[in-house]
Amino acid sequence: MARPKPAGRPLWAEVDLDALAHNLRTIKERARGAQVMAVVKANAYGHGAVGVARALVEAGAEALAVVCTEEAQELRQAGVRAPILVMGPTPPEDAPLLVELEVATAVASWEMAQALAQAAAQRGRVHPVHIKVDTGLNRFGVPPREALALAQALRHVPSLRVEGLFTHFAAAEDGDKDFTLAQFREFMAVARQAPWIPLRHVANTATILDMPELALEMVRPGLGLYGCHPPGMTSSLPLRPILSLKARLMRVMELAPGQTVSYGRTWRAQRPSRIGLIPCGYADGLPRALSNRGWVLVRGRRVPIVGRVCMDMTMVDLTPIPEAQVGDEVVIIGRQGEEEMTVDEIASLCCTISYEILCGIGPRVPRVFLQAGMVRGVQRVQDAWEEAPIHQEESRH
Ligand SMILES: *Cc1c(COP(=O)(O)O)cnc(C)c1O
Repeated sequence: MARPKPAGRPLWAEVDLDALAHNLRTIKERARGAQVMAVVKANAYGHGAVGVARALVEAGAEALAVVCTEEAQELRQAGVRAPILVMGPTPPEDAPLLVELEVATAVASWEMAQALAQAAAQRGRVHPVHIKVDTGLNRFGVPPREALALAQALRHVPSLRVEGLFTHFAAAEDGDKDFTLAQFREFMAVARQAPWIPLRHVANTATILDMPELALEMVRPGLGLYGCHPPGMTSSLPLRPILSLKARLMRVMELAPGQTVSYGRTWRAQRPSRIGLIPCGYADGLPRALSNRGWVLVRGRRVPIVGRVCMDMTMVDLTPIPEAQVGDEVVIIGRQGEEEMTVDEIASLCCTISYEILCGIGPRVPRVFLQAGMVRGVQRVQDAWEEAPIHQEESRH
């Protein structure tokens, strides 16, 4: 299999698009053939939004979901033509851009609906909206008692098309399903009175895994597509991790007993030690909480992180692997030989959830997309510098 070796700093993330397609098929089967609106917010949970979105659409995802207008714009600018829903709250000032981009928009207020209606009417368009009902997450959405009135009002606005009705569960990963079912009943009470809305969607990954009977017309998986299970859930589907975070050893040094490693001198050699330097720090998504606690893989074996994780670099103890040398591949997340560092293990070492570890992979790390053993593309984050307009008046003083 062709191993990518991008030029520059030897640190990269590999995204396995075959595993991604497998996860999509697996989820679709569990959701009884419901349409899939694949959630690619937050740079596709850190994996690289454009590469992931394209592969998901090719593999059969009917639609994509993001949280904000900028995320939809990134996908459209990269040529993604599939239906996209912006599911988060958006400011009414975004309405003209949302209409230009032709991205369906979550609506939970008359004010936002009006802004979209006006922007669409001015451009001679009919803009798709999905009404978001807040059934108990108490985050974003219109309360159930107001949802029907909003739906009925929007139904008669000529420049809007009410395409969807949706809600989001607060505790779908809990063993106790009472609250989820209560939320579902509230949602369905609205949905039943608006049977003319074609797409109803409520199911995140946890719901698809545990309560596939709530799939309705469409499901909204995120985490499961990336091969992880929601916190506390046991593996009930054969999902495959799709991300590996890899580096190369950049230095191997010999330390004498008593010498210390990294800031604060929190690790001290007890014996003659061989310490390896990896070019990955907390700015790249290797949590500082793994200082003196985490592991990486070298030559198919686990080696401990020693000393504090720095912003850009981390040191590991290679003493038990005398054959390790500069240039060796280091796996920070993923498999190497028989060993594996999973996102779940790292998350639990850091007292957090897999979502946060994935989203934390930094913008400096190139994402390399692999398909059928070949490099399909590389995504680097390169924000263009925008010069602020110079105010002549002010600059004179
Ligand atoms: C993030 C998100 C999802 C996906 O949730 P997962 O647990 O990753 O499957 C679905 N719907 C909404 C509204 C979200 O914000």
